Amino acid sequence: MKSAPPLIALTIAGSDSGGGAGIQADLKTFHAHGVHGVSVIAAITSQNTRGVTAVHPVPLAHIRSQLDAVFDDFPIAAVKTGMLGNAATVRLVAKELRKRKPAWLVVDPVMISTSGSRLLDEDAVEAVIHELIPLANILTPNLPEAEALLGHPLKTSKQLAKAGEALLALGAQGVLLKGGHGRGSEVIDRYFDAHGVMDIRHPRLQREGHGTGCTLASAIAAELAKGAAPRQAVRRAVAYVQRALKNGYRPGSSVAFVLRH
Ligand code: PLP
Repeated sequence: MKSAPPLIALTIAGSDSGGGAGIQADLKTFHAHGVHGVSVIAAITSQNTRGVTAVHPVPLAHIRSQLDAVFDDFPIAAVKTGMLGNAATVRLVAKELRKRKPAWLVVDPVMISTSGSRLLDEDAVEAVIHELIPLANILTPNLPEAEALLGHPLKTSKQLAKAGEALLALGAQGVLLKGGHGRGSEVIDRYFDAHGVMDIRHPRLQREGHGTGCTLASAIAAELAKGAAPRQAVRRAVAYVQRALKNGYRPGSSVAFVLRH
């Protein structure tokens, strides 16, 4: 008996030579969700669990040809964008997505790695705001990324209370504000959409995770590809990352844990 081919999801992101984050994390996540992953590599990082030592942006012509290759052949059910590196790449990816109109788009506005390296040029933030975010079904900023997108700190409870509305005003249909960079024994991930707010609370694991953001966004994309509604996709993806981090391991010499998919 022939089995049906799996659903297909696309990641447009950066490569992590250490196999913990970026494209590598995305493809492992898609596979763990039973989804066939295809990829467009927008930047190549030289990286291990200690940090990023070099970033090579992929030339625009080759990003375009990768996009042509995957969109021309595969029925792509959902797209996730991660590290894009610079403004020209953001503009190209946004232009192609406007043309290709995927059913679902998850935008992870990757800016700086946990280890402290810049993964998006500062002058590219405007392009992310004006070109990419308005196309997103779900935007997944952490607190520092949300601050950069809004242009002001999110320190007081008043600022935090207004953040959801302000982020939604950038044009995404839903925003998952990740609480991992906050303090306290509990992490609150907060999802905002036209229906209101949904809080997802979970205990803070006392370990430094590497690739958690990439994995979360690609797990959301995989769930959307499989037919989950956005809120359900977000809840399941948060649980997936929690489980994968709890079962994580340290493949390198630093304290960083890589997720077990
Ligand atoms: N490398 C690449 C290519 C990424 O896309 C990201 C995050 O999105 C990172 C590294 C950083 O991962 P982390 O901050 O979890 O270490």
